[in-house]
Amino acid sequence: MVVLAAGDASSSRSPAMEAPSSASPPSPGPGLVIRIRVPDGGAVDWTVHPAPQLLFRDVLDVIGQVLPEATTTAFEYEDEDGDRITVRSDEEMKAMLSYYYTTVMEQQANGQLVVPLQIYPRACKPPGKRNIHGLKVNTRAGSATNSATAVPDSLPSNSLKKSSAELKKILANGQINEQDIRYRDVLGHGNGGTVYKASHALNGKVLAVKVIPLDITLELQKQIMSELEILYKCDSSYIIGFYGAFFVENRISICTEFMDGGSLDVYRKIPEHVLGRIAVAVVKGLTYLWSLKILHRDVKPSNMLVSTRGQVKLCDFGVSTQLVNSIAKTYVGTNAYMAPERISGEQYGIHSDVWSLGISFMELALGRFPYPQIQKNQGSLMPLQLLQCIVDEESPVLPVGEFSEPFVHFITQCMRKQPKDRPAPEELMGHLFIVQYNDGNTEVVSMWVCRMLEERRAQQQQQQQGTQ
Ligand code: ATP
Ligand code: MG
Repeated sequence: MVVLAAGDASSSRSPAMEAPSSASPPSPGPGLVIRIRVPDGGAVDWTVHPAPQLLFRDVLDVIGQVLPEATTTAFEYEDEDGDRITVRSDEEMKAMLSYYYTTVMEQQANGQLVVPLQIYPRACKPPGKRNIHGLKVNTRAGSATNSATAVPDSLPSNSLKKSSAELKKILANGQINEQDIRYRDVLGHGNGGTVYKASHALNGKVLAVKVIPLDITLELQKQIMSELEILYKCDSSYIIGFYGAFFVENRISICTEFMDGGSLDVYRKIPEHVLGRIAVAVVKGLTYLWSLKILHRDVKPSNMLVSTRGQVKLCDFGVSTQLVNSIAKTYVGTNAYMAPERISGEQYGIHSDVWSLGISFMELALGRFPYPQIQKNQGSLMPLQLLQCIVDEESPVLPVGEFSEPFVHFITQCMRKQPKDRPAPEELMGHLFIVQYNDGNTEVVSMWVCRMLEERRAQQQQQQQGTQ
């Protein structure tokens, strides 16, 4: 393996841009090691000092030295799922470094060996679509092949590169337990429990773990575990990946795929062209669940998760009746997204999920809950009498003029007071609003999520500066 020292390769150009603080290394180490993977399967390590001043052009210059025969215009790195992400600009470099330092921090926190940043030069390809916000994210459907096979024997094998499918298999073998989980940040509190960002001790894979305290008998615990079995079989790009669940004392931990964009309830008013693509994914996710005879029962913005890769996935569906009942016994209140017939205590069916879909998207489009008299301050559980207006009044309608006709019609149909008047699954999929946005364009959602996260980060930084 060739090892370039910093002086060998860095260009003499002075940095035109300061890297953001989020892209700073977690601790002053020996410098950033970039492992340049070459087509024959070998690798060249390049140690960079000081890393934050690194420019995209500098990296291309070094690649030019390593691969003098090829004209390299871009390079790629792999995200935690092994998907390749292209870098073609300084902005995209910043995003890559920021992502890499997050994984370094995770490796350090787990006491693991820090793996160099691996990049894959791309020779002379057309530039393709650019992400104007500088966070180019991979939107390909499948995962890239696992690169670990190409790593020479002397290099540490990168267990972080395990694909989601592989991880799912490992975890589904019943190997996941409390000892394997390293709890990190709290992602949020719900009505039933707390969701943590965590990592798996053996492979560093990031997970979301929902911990719900439940005082129930061993018998009920067993019943819940067997009811959750069906989650292993759920296999849809629109449903959150399930890795396993376990009881410890009086609490259940449910481990799922982590979505780096979080849930939709924390995003303000979402523009229609973005919301349209999100709606397509949500309708597909619901249709998938319904095809398995599973009703979601808790469709609402906080149970719709997004990622910087433009994925949209449903979570927290009521697959275990016992779990739903046990939580309901502890937490009193009625869900504000429930259909009128459910608030009235009548029968519940697919059509009730469709109402919740309608009211959720109306809220996301308006940036406020559609019934002004209902103040949702904390969570979505409300005293029943406050929700009586949903049963008594005409359904709200999106303002025509502000939103397209198909969108207004879609919401109006979903929020018909009579369940039988609401669209059936195939009618939802065939609705013009869904059809026109069913174009497979995940880049729209991905760019929007990246931009919103950047804005949120900037705001947080400003607030921090303000308090100092
Ligand atoms: P409820 O308990 O009624 O479902 P909720 O959906 O607001 O209410 P939780 O399900 O406990 O509450 O989730 C809390 C928060 O954790 C969510 O709002 C979301 O921001 C975050 N979260 C949940 N699951 C994930 C995940 N898989 N990836 C990333 N963030 C998640
Ligand atoms: Mg939830």
